[in-house]
Formats: sequence, C-alpha cells, structure tokens
Amino acid sequence: MNLMARASRVLPGGVSSPVRAFRGVGGQPVFVKAAEGAYLYSEDGRRFIDYIGSYGPMIHGHRHPDVEKAVEEALRRSTTFGAPTVGEVELGELICSAFPAMDMVRFVSSGTEATMSALRLARAATGRDKFIKFVGCYHGHGDAFLVAAGSGAATLGVPSSPGVPEAVTAHTLVAPFNDLDAVRKLFEEHDDIAAIFVEPIGGNMGLVPPADGFLEGLREVTEKNGALLVFDEVMTGFRVAWGGAQILFDVEPDLTTLGKVIGGGLPIGAYGGRRELMEQIAPAGPVYQAGTLSGNPLAVAAGRASLKLLKADGGAAYDQLEATSNTLSQGLQDAAASHNVPLRIQRQGSMVGLFFTDSTVVSQDDVDASDRELFGRVFHRLLAQGVHLPPSAYETWFVSTAHGEAEVTKTINAFAGALAEG
Ligand code: PLP
Repeated sequence: MNLMARASRVLPGGVSSPVRAFRGVGGQPVFVKAAEGAYLYSEDGRRFIDYIGSYGPMIHGHRHPDVEKAVEEALRRSTTFGAPTVGEVELGELICSAFPAMDMVRFVSSGTEATMSALRLARAATGRDKFIKFVGCYHGHGDAFLVAAGSGAATLGVPSSPGVPEAVTAHTLVAPFNDLDAVRKLFEEHDDIAAIFVEPIGGNMGLVPPADGFLEGLREVTEKNGALLVFDEVMTGFRVAWGGAQILFDVEPDLTTLGKVIGGGLPIGAYGGRRELMEQIAPAGPVYQAGTLSGNPLAVAAGRASLKLLKADGGAAYDQLEATSNTLSQGLQDAAASHNVPLRIQRQGSMVGLFFTDSTVVSQDDVDASDRELFGRVFHRLLAQGVHLPPSAYETWFVSTAHGEAEVTKTINAFAGALAEG
C-alpha cells in the first residue's frame, strides 16, 4: 500500500492540513523524512530544494545549528511547565523592541489562535461586533474569518465552509483587497464596525502588495470611525523585515498578529499592541483568553534563537535573503521571457509570488485569472527535477538563508526546462 493510501485511512485526505495533499509521483505528495538547510529528504529517498519552508517559519532553513542548540538546551529543562518563564519574557521583549506599535504581547500556539483572540479583543475594546476582511486574505480557520465574497464585490459574509453558522459570519464584512472605496462604503453602511483585519502584504493569494496609499487609507478610515486596525503579520512579521510590513510601509496598526518565524519552526502565535488595549486581556483585564501550551518553552527557545539570527550584524540576514531572492526572481523572469511565457513575479524580500499572466496582480480576481493550469504543470515538472514549490498557485514561495547560488541556479535551470516542455 502506498503511504498516501495508508495515511488516508486514518487522516482525512491523508494529511494534517489541506494544502499538503496533491497527486505527485505514485499519486501521492512527498512524504518528508527529514530536512537540512535548503533541502527536504523524502521517505522514498529523493532530495528536493525546499521553497515551502513550512509556509514561512523556516527563514534560516532546516536544522540551523543555533536554533537546534537552543531547542536541545530547552528540552533538557523539560517541555512545558504551565508556569511563567524568563524565556517568554525575553521573546516578548525582543518582539516589542522590533514593533514600535507593540507595548505588550500575548503568546498563543498558532496564527489561527492569534487572529481569533485579536478579534475578541477588538470587539471587546470597541463594544462592536462587525469587522472587515479582504477577499484572498487568510487569517487562519476561525469561524468568523472563513468567509468568501460574492464575485469580488463588497458584500456581507457568507460562510465558505459547512459548519460555520451564518450567525457568526453575519458580522464579517468583506471587501476586495486594495479597494479603499469598498471599505469606505462599508463604513457608510455600518456604524458598528470594530476592526479591519488585513494582511498588510497579501501572502495567501501568491504575493499581492498593498497599492499605494491602501494601508494609509485603512489607518485613516479606522481612526475616523473609531474602529481598530489589525495587521495580520503571521506570515510577514520578521519575514519581510525586522518589525514586519508595518515598518516597511510606515503604518502603525492598533493590533498585530504574529506566528511562523517567531517560533523558529515550532508551534506559536502571538498578538500585541498598545498597553491600554493589551491590558484588557485576562488576567490584567476582563477579556478571557488562555492556553495550556501558550508560551511553550521549546517554541520560545527556537523563536528567540531565530530572531537573534535575524538581528545579528545589523540585519545582514535580510540583505542576504533579498539578494538571493532577487537573483532567483530575475532568473525565473528571464527564463520565462526566453520561452515567451507571460510571467509576473511579485516579491517582497524572501516571499516570492509567481503568476503566469502579463498583468499586475492586485487582487484575488487577478490571481484567479492567471494561468493556474500552467502553474500545475510547472509544479510537477519542477518536482520531478528535485525542486519542491508550495503545491498551489495561491501560495508564496519562501526563500531561506540556507538557499545559496547552487540552489538558485538549479531552480532557474529546472524552471527553464519545465517551460520548454510547454
Ligand atoms: N494569518 C496568516 C496571514 C497566515 O498566513 C496564516 C497561516 O498561513 C494564519 C493566520 C494562520 O496561522 P496558523 O496556520 O499558524 O494557524
């Protein structure tokens, strides 16, 4: 029996998270046995250059010695206590020092928990129930966030999954990404909007940067209407810059959600903001939120080691990530041009979005309109040549500091070869 058939007997769809399931060699995804640096090693003995990076956390590649050492040391002090630790204080201090808009931070165990908790706090702080999210932005799988919009138009939310009560998503308002007018209209129609949730750089529809003035406009409209602005930086936090997208675009949100990189590859999430907001969280305030494994010492140790590496030498890691990712993007773009294939690459640092289209991608509709069938063919051809992209045109590629010239060159050559097949 192949592994996927065996997995599918006990795990729905054979996986623990949907995007991992695809039909590769033998009709199954790559089952990973181990990873090192920029490489994944499969159960069936193959080796792949890894652009999944566990969907964001592995900014230093796999098994970075500093991260591994920190986890090993933490492991020897036990895996969880259910009591405060100095490690979580230190990680909190590091994070707050990087994000000027964050005086305080609360640790949770996933990005999903971070956004759910931030929504509860935003509702409590404003005494309002509704919030706005954008089509194509993903904020984890909390009920209130699982909403699709009708044909890209601003609309009241309808659940995009069975099991999500309409009564819950009735409070979710949806607007197209990068459409400030739609947001302003929603504020004209509703006087009970608690918050806007936004990925400041769209990272769950390939990579879609904010249009000029979009984030500033969101800041303005929330301030004018007494609503909170929440930046979901679960993906972008510490990935695009020390201090996240809010530093790059110089817009301060009221609350920020984090995850991925801050856990160095172990489960973590966090949300933070100004003191007067965060002190509404229990036990400092009345807004209840708790977690058995929150601030887990192993995750905190891996996160601290990871952030320290990013901070070292004046942020040299970011320069390296930028250089590697730029060479990669240029090479892919040139390969596409030489094969007359329309390709648009949108990149922010080490997050690379690749779309088979010749127009700019500013919203989910544009992603839908790109040639996703070609993406599927290219994905499988690259896989056959030992390059493992995320298996969906809606996912960003993640480059790590372990990716070097050899990996980039091999990827570009494999990509050119895949395009040559038509
Ligand atoms: N928010 C954003 C922007 C994300 O990209 C993700 C996950 O991809 C989440 C929230 C949810 O995080 P998690 O998968 O850790 O629950």
